[in-house]
Formats: sequence, structure tokens, C-alpha cells
Amino acid sequence: MDTKAIIAKTEQYGAKNYHPLPVVISEAKGVWVRDPEGNRYLDMLSAYSAVNQGHCHPKIVAALKEQADKVTLTSRAFHNDNLAPFYEKVSTLTGKNMILPMNTGAEAVETAVKAARRWAYDCKGVPDNQSEIIVCEDNFHGRTLTAVSLSSNEEYKRGFGPMLPGVKLIPYGDITALKAAITPKTAAFLVEPIQGEAGIIIPPEGFLRAAYELCQQEKILFIADEIQVGLGRTGKLFACDWEKVKPDMYILGKALGGGVFPVSIVAADNDILGVFEPGSHGSTFGGNPLACAVGIAALGVMEEEKLVERSLELGTYFISQLKKIDNPLIKEVRGRGLFIGVELKVPARSYCEKLKEEGLLCKETHHHVIRFAPPLVIEKVELDWAIEKIKTVLQP
Ligand code: PLP
Repeated sequence: MDTKAIIAKTEQYGAKNYHPLPVVISEAKGVWVRDPEGNRYLDMLSAYSAVNQGHCHPKIVAALKEQADKVTLTSRAFHNDNLAPFYEKVSTLTGKNMILPMNTGAEAVETAVKAARRWAYDCKGVPDNQSEIIVCEDNFHGRTLTAVSLSSNEEYKRGFGPMLPGVKLIPYGDITALKAAITPKTAAFLVEPIQGEAGIIIPPEGFLRAAYELCQQEKILFIADEIQVGLGRTGKLFACDWEKVKPDMYILGKALGGGVFPVSIVAADNDILGVFEPGSHGSTFGGNPLACAVGIAALGVMEEEKLVERSLELGTYFISQLKKIDNPLIKEVRGRGLFIGVELKVPARSYCEKLKEEGLLCKETHHHVIRFAPPLVIEKVELDWAIEKIKTVLQP
């Protein structure tokens, strides 16, 4: 089937919960992908930062294949021999001594919220069923009912009510509002250290640190949703590292599976994650041997190929080149590492479509922003190639 036929069939059967660019990817390697007609595109979205290690990384794919021949799923009814090494690796990475494995990002967010609520009742003494969680306007924590209950976006919530109670919203980056929102019932402050879906929004300098210190003083858990911005994307291992903040709880997903397999986790110390006892939470696939093998390989590649350092160096370069583009359509260029938003004064969708025609894949976010988040294995020459395409397409 060609691109047109594949899209027509997909549209025929699929629920319309996405609005993809009209391109079909049938092959991918590193930063390059191909459609069924053999056209080549540079991927500058990386499946929303899940493919930080590059498409079909040979080491990650090899780990998957090798494990697939041994054992793929045990459920947590039994132990498997890959879980402990995976735990150990994630524990070393995060500095946390307890890990809870899930599959998707939204499930890990769900897990973090459950942990925070139970911690509030069992450890902080909040009266039963009264705990509160503080989140930021324009957040994105996924699409389950818990995650959309945390959202301020009516489009995400319409028709799905009633929403989960006990959620308080504050403007992103507003420490005074955070202070004012805290009550004796507050369990946690859940925050994206850089907001991705909101349009690559970096909080005011000092906000994360001030928020963390406030949480410490008030005995509130500071939970960082690093699902999109963690694991090197912003030029540091974690985006919280930009302000030297070690959150009480990390939520990781996406690149933890190297774009090969869904792998997510919550990491915290045992005084927090210790609130779970057998029977209180679980997932048939969470912590499965394939996921663990892939997760270990994905983190291994990140270290061996120095992807954090690459992201910082190449991202700094790319941002500087983007800032040099003198074009009246551009309102602002912002970003950290290879996590970059170009905000236009006009809707961004048509420019993403034009970039696709030029062989560059990216996606608009929040209508006016083009997000550039290529795999962290991208080369400087490829970024230079992208800059030329962007200049061409943005020509008024
Ligand atoms: N949290 C953040 C910050 C995200 O960017 C995403 C996905 O884009 C999620 C949570 C949800 O992850 P998933 O789509 O794997 O459920």
C-alpha cells in the first residue's frame, strides 16, 4: 500500500483522537525515517522525546531480541531475573532507593498520585480522603482520568467528568501562588520542570528550587514529572538538575524504553514508596523482563554515547542558530538542550506541513509553537541542514 491508501484505511477504522501530519513512517534508523515511497525525512520530534537514543538503536534492539528468546512475561506473581538489575540501574541514576515499574507515562503519573495520597494519610496524618495535590496550569501529565483531572485544559476534560477531586491549580512558575495554595491537607506538588506540551515553557529562574524548599518546609512531596524532559533531553540528566533540585519523587517514561518498548517508573525513597504493600497497586506488564532488558540497554546507550552532554552542546548550538534567523514571523526561540520551541506570531501547523514537504518532521504544540526535539544522536551537519530548511519554509 502507498501512503495515500494507508492513511485512508487508518482514517476509516481509527478513532479520531489524533491529528497526524500526512506522512507514513515505514522504516527508521537513527535520526532518519522513510515513507513507503522511499522518501527520507529527518525526525525532529523523536516520538515526543521517547526516541532520544535514535530510532532502532542496534544495542537496544539487540537487547529486545535476545530477551524475547528467553522469557518475555512472568507477571509480578513470580520474580524475573531482569528486574533487580533494572532497579539497581534506575536507583543509581536517580539516587532513590525504591523503584516502582509501570509501562506508560500516564500509568506512572497515576502511581505517583496514589503514592502521594497514601503517604499523606499514613505518614503525614492528613484525615482520610481529604488530601490535596497542587499542579500547574497548562500542565500535561497524560490522558488517564487522573491525569486529565490534573489538567487545566477543558479540551482534555470535556465529556469525561466527574473529575478526580482534591486538585488545586496554580500558575506555572508562581511561587507566591504555590505558597497560598498549600494547606495542612496538601500531599504533593506535582510539576513538569519544563512544560513540554504547553509549548516548551521554562519556569522563571529559581522557581524549582524555591518550590522544592517550600515543599520541604511544609512537609509536602515535590514530585517531578520528567517523562518528557528527563534522560538528557534538556542537556542535563534530569531537567530538575538545572536548579540542582533532587525531587522527592521522579516520574520517568518515554526514553527509558529507548523508543523500543514502553517502560516507565516512579522512583523515591522507601519512606515514601514504602506505603505500598502487596495488593495495593500493580500492573500485569509492569517490570516485565523485556521492558527491563530494554530499559537497561536504553540507559546504557545514554551513558556510553554521552547523550546528555551531546544534548547540551548541540542544543546550545541549534538554539543559537535559530536565534540568528531574522524573520518577522518568529516571536521567540526558547529551549534547553535539544528541547526547543520556536514560537511564531501565527499558527504553526501549516509550517510543520511545509517542513514535512522539505523532508523535516516536527509538530506544532499549543498552536503557535514548533517543537524541535530530535533524537540526541543527531549530528551537527544534520542540524545545519535543518536550519536551512527552517529558513526556507519560514520565508514570508
Ligand atoms: N507526562 C508528560 C510530561 C508527558 O509529556 C507525557 C506524554 O507526552 C505523559 C506524562 C504521558 O505519557 P504517556 O503518553 O506515555 O502516557
